[in-house]
Amino acid sequence: MEKNIITINENSLTFEPGETILSIAQRNKIDIPTLCHLKNTTPTNTCKICLVEIKGEPDLVESCSTKAAIGMVVFSESPRVIEARKENISRMLASGNHNCAIRDFDTNDWTSFQLGVLKDDGKEDLCPAWGDCELQNLAYRYQVKTKGLPLNGCQYETERVNPFIIRDFSRCILCGRCVKACREIQVNNAIEFGYAGKDLKIIANDDAVLKDSDCVFCGECLQVCPVGALIPDKAFRDDRFKDTHAVRTTCSFCGVGCQMDLFVQDNQIVKIDGADVELPPNNASLCVKGRFGFNFVSAKDRLTQPLIKKDGKQVAASWDEALELVAQNFTAIKEKFGSDAIGVLTSARVTNEDNYVAQKFTRAVLKTNNIDHCARL
Ligand code: SF4
Ligand code: SF4
Ligand code: SF4
Repeated sequence: MEKNIITINENSLTFEPGETILSIAQRNKIDIPTLCHLKNTTPTNTCKICLVEIKGEPDLVESCSTKAAIGMVVFSESPRVIEARKENISRMLASGNHNCAIRDFDTNDWTSFQLGVLKDDGKEDLCPAWGDCELQNLAYRYQVKTKGLPLNGCQYETERVNPFIIRDFSRCILCGRCVKACREIQVNNAIEFGYAGKDLKIIANDDAVLKDSDCVFCGECLQVCPVGALIPDKAFRDDRFKDTHAVRTTCSFCGVGCQMDLFVQDNQIVKIDGADVELPPNNASLCVKGRFGFNFVSAKDRLTQPLIKKDGKQVAASWDEALELVAQNFTAIKEKFGSDAIGVLTSARVTNEDNYVAQKFTRAVLKTNNIDHCARL
């Protein structure tokens, strides 16, 4: 019996029946770029970036939706493929307000995609996705030079009325990832493709603003948007995504234990993404609290020292004074009414480790099981 083997860029690779060329490539760390494909969802086939050449076939095919066949010979970076990719990247850049730039490999100069948007440092009128944009990255990788492209008159007004999410359809490349994320990953069904032809657009309900739709602001769409069409309203304090660094941590808001990456700039969190799509329990998804509920970390009115109530007023005290008072009162209550007269409530706004220590203290020191957490799901 013939084995399930195909060749990609001269590598012989096995495949499962029904597996797509893109999936085989990704499993084997062969980089085939795509702007619309989203892992664990059905193919959208909109961006035409993952095109590959199959030996003996007249047309290039989309690797995200073409199933492997025994003996297939595939080229993912042939001259025809690269030419087609460049053309499609250029088409996308011309389709909207892509007022950023890339560096020229040869001269190291900035090349803007559209006229009149850059100063000498290449950083005027920046798109908030600069440095974190898959389209800009591909334009750089394939050196797509569209200098002088006329602005196409894309007139969408930026939608800033929503909590957490800014929508700017003048930068939308209609890849459809947001729709897949909303409908197939989060199953919220809040957005879809609306209108047709040149008016094609992502809409919520009857083209309402997100805040007046069925959107629950989980932010899944925002995380998967490859360009600057969906951005978090608090992010990028200095408009430079690349100046942040990521810190992997566990969400403390409930017991699910979602893995997340905090993007930190000048010791401030500016954005949170769900961690790796392969990493359980959340596989890169987050809820509204985990993704957007981080303002408390640097809140200006956050308590920084203990307060003791004196004559009906909260008065600042030292830690020694506060701890002494708490210890005295706990001891007195325990002696008079027993340990179970005391209960401890912990918080989602402290770390997992703090909560662990609180339950240890409650059980081992106070000798009661009356310990609970504000988000015990
Ligand atoms: S969305 Fe990407 S390609 Fe478009 S302007 Fe912003 S950074 Fe540039
Ligand atoms: S935030 Fe969540 S619910 Fe709202 S449109 Fe995006 S994916 Fe759908
Ligand atoms: S909003 Fe973003 S994810 Fe949605 S279709 Fe436009 S570019 Fe793609």
